[in-house]
Amino acid sequence: MKINSIMNTTRICIVGFLIITPFFIFSQNIDEIFESSGEVHFSFDYHNKKQLDKLSKIISIDHQTNNIKAYAYANKTEFKNFLNQSIDYKIIYDKRDLKSPNHNRSNWDFYPSYPQYVSMMEAFADSFPSICKLHNIGTLSSGHKILIAQISNNVGVKENEPSFLYTSSMHGDELTGYILMLRLIDEMLNGYGTNIQFTNLINNVDIWINPLANPDGAYAGGDNSIQGATRYNANWVDLNRNYPDPLAGDHPDGNIWQEETIIFMDLADSIPFNMSCNLHTGAEVFNYPWDTWSNLAADDSWWQYIATLYADTVHHQSPGYFTDLNNGITNGWDWYEVDGGRQDFMNYFKFCREATLELSSNKIPNPITLPDYWNYNGPSLVNYIEQSLFGLRGLVTDSLSGAPLSARVEISGHDYDSSHVYSNLPIGNYHRYLSPGNYQLTFSKNGYYSKTVVADVYANTSTIENVMLAPISFVGINEIKKPRKVISSYDLIGRKSTNHNGLVLKLFDNGSVKKTINLNK
Ligand SMILES: [Zn+2]
Repeated sequence: MKINSIMNTTRICIVGFLIITPFFIFSQNIDEIFESSGEVHFSFDYHNKKQLDKLSKIISIDHQTNNIKAYAYANKTEFKNFLNQSIDYKIIYDKRDLKSPNHNRSNWDFYPSYPQYVSMMEAFADSFPSICKLHNIGTLSSGHKILIAQISNNVGVKENEPSFLYTSSMHGDELTGYILMLRLIDEMLNGYGTNIQFTNLINNVDIWINPLANPDGAYAGGDNSIQGATRYNANWVDLNRNYPDPLAGDHPDGNIWQEETIIFMDLADSIPFNMSCNLHTGAEVFNYPWDTWSNLAADDSWWQYIATLYADTVHHQSPGYFTDLNNGITNGWDWYEVDGGRQDFMNYFKFCREATLELSSNKIPNPITLPDYWNYNGPSLVNYIEQSLFGLRGLVTDSLSGAPLSARVEISGHDYDSSHVYSNLPIGNYHRYLSPGNYQLTFSKNGYYSKTVVADVYANTSTIENVMLAPISFVGINEIKKPRKVISSYDLIGRKSTNHNGLVLKLFDNGSVKKTINLNK
């Protein structure tokens, strides 16, 4: 009863809040349409998925799209191309009521101004310096900063931990996740040492949370309010179409990489994220790879499990919410094709398991409903971070020196479409998320003998496989001329060898290594 009444209240608020005033504008002048904004929000009926996928290469199809009606955004150039298709459309005007009459900062029922946002992020790091570090990963031409909170015990020190990323609101007018991420940071930091789950995650995961990936869009109407928020960035580019695409190549949208895109590509180059999630609104669904093609991911069964876990936990908190598409989960391409999206970029090029989460049908819900969205999603958001601890993991090291290695970790007969992973320096740790089963993994690196191991993986727990790789000896001409002295010998798995039967690796005083096969004496 209680939950139902909350849902009814929410629905009433949402209906009363977002006033959509569609009307036909067949003859409206394109300059008039773009007079007050560089982007237009519109809807149209479509015939089939093929037509929609074709249009997705011209305009930005939006998450509100269902199997009859498409919702989309376009800048002026994109809209001109759309008009050439001679499709009837309706322009949507979003009017937002952002007042929260009884708002109190501790209730999380408001959208902060930009300066408030910056000071909240600074306050997190100032209040919890031992477990939270604030990074400005890039300042845009506008002066807005892309801020990210890193949360971990020994924060800033590389450890044998998975790196996890939440990033929200790359579409500047999709702001539920913005607030939920600020609140997640706050709850986790304040729960450290008392909440068992938060403490475990902070101790064992390198957590990064970026609440606002497109500040120029969110504050397009000025820094004091999100009233004029736009989907696109300040150059009227959809940032979620601006990434290199596994199929369509480097610039699928025809635009140069935007400042925001380069900042996040640099971040992914610096931090080898193992799992991540990109938060949007416009629907209520957990969207998993791929977006660009119909191929199922090699780990499709793992993705379905993770997505279902997210949705089921939400349903437990709030029946009736988060039921879009297949009861709150969908394969990306099945819904609608996206080229140049961040999710596929992270999965294909950065070997990171990234999903796209759509948190609310309303892009900018009435602020008084934001605490409800936290109650519905909070446990799922935390459990999703926890999954980064599970699966197969371990360290890859040089069998002679013990030095950590960056090696390729591939599963025979299973991996394709870039689903393999790498162990990462400086620790040499790898994290491979898999459905329960028995897998044969091969670890390989140039200059080393490959090694294959067999491992069993179970749900919601980790299997540890530490692997040492033996270097292949290389003897150059210069080295042969000089006499060398053996200072140590090892067998193939790195044990110091005194009984020199079989294959032995000899370490010389000049640092070189030679492989020899010794026969019984
Ligand atoms: Zn979005």
